[in-house]
Amino acid sequence: MLVSLVIPVLNESENLPALWSRLRAVTSGLSDVEFEAVFVDDGSTDDTAASINALPVEGGNLQWVLVQLSRNFGHQAAITAGMQHASGDAVVFLDADLQDPPELIVDFLDHFRHGYDVVYGVRKNRKEPLWLRFCFASFYRLFNAIAERPIPLDAGDFGLMSKRVAKLIAQMPERDRLIRGMRSWVGFKQIGIPYDRPGRYAGTSRYSVMRRIEGALDGLFGYSRIPIRLSLLLGIVVCLVAGVYLASTLVGQFVFGGQAVRGWTSLLVLAFMLGGANLVATAIVGEYVSRVYFQGKNRPLFIVAETARSSRSEPLR
Ligand code: UDP
Ligand code: MG
Repeated sequence: MLVSLVIPVLNESENLPALWSRLRAVTSGLSDVEFEAVFVDDGSTDDTAASINALPVEGGNLQWVLVQLSRNFGHQAAITAGMQHASGDAVVFLDADLQDPPELIVDFLDHFRHGYDVVYGVRKNRKEPLWLRFCFASFYRLFNAIAERPIPLDAGDFGLMSKRVAKLIAQMPERDRLIRGMRSWVGFKQIGIPYDRPGRYAGTSRYSVMRRIEGALDGLFGYSRIPIRLSLLLGIVVCLVAGVYLASTLVGQFVFGGQAVRGWTSLLVLAFMLGGANLVATAIVGEYVSRVYFQGKNRPLFIVAETARSSRSEPLR
């Protein structure tokens, strides 16, 4: 059996030696399995590629493949590139910063051998700052409340997929790629395994706050029609409020002979509210239209500049 380990890397040369030695230790304990690490260099500007080229393979059952993208295409695109270049019977996904403990691969494979198509890690705790953890928790709960297909809470991309599931996901043409969402959508036998998520081994997160917000918007608009329905609902409510207000004023004026209110305040408030509701509704429609636009361009999700592999004495199966 051949197992691929897909590892997206963006300026991770500091982490690679430690990652490699832990991977070698784990894989050497599984001597009936051949491993290939598929590193996807997502436009690194440090010496990540050189570090990968220097990784030793002698005497082990772990080889490496390097897929260099032509620029930075983002974490999820890099994972997709890795999936397309993986030839294993099972594909494991893990980050290069040792936040995804390689030792769990043993458990993943155990479940795979027992017939699971998808095995994923569930974070028991996280080492990120409190505000970020709060944002993650809110996002996933909101996502699950409105998504067409919920994703398991506190599960990232860290996990294993059988070849057929990895193939299915790699072939999906959509641009809004939240792999953990697509993984949940395909079905088959799935199981989550709880683990403690440590902090980063070296360096800082390659995700800026802006990138995280973009990712969250992609997740919400890419996987749900609810926001656009909400904007419809909001429009209806605003119209109803205006209708009731008009009716009550007319009745007050002509039935009870009252004096119409002269106040500007109500007018202004109404104008602002209507304007605001309009802008929100238009923006939501815009989010969907722009997604259709980018999907319609049908550009590739990533561009491969070069590939390389470790030299080995016997071919992998
Ligand atoms: N990464 C990538 N491209 C990006 C951002 C990140 O390939 O544009 C890689 C990064 O090198 C790491 C993994 O994706 O191996 C997860 O990134 P990071 O640890 O920065 O994310 P976090 O754990 O903070 O969510
Ligand atoms: Mg990380």
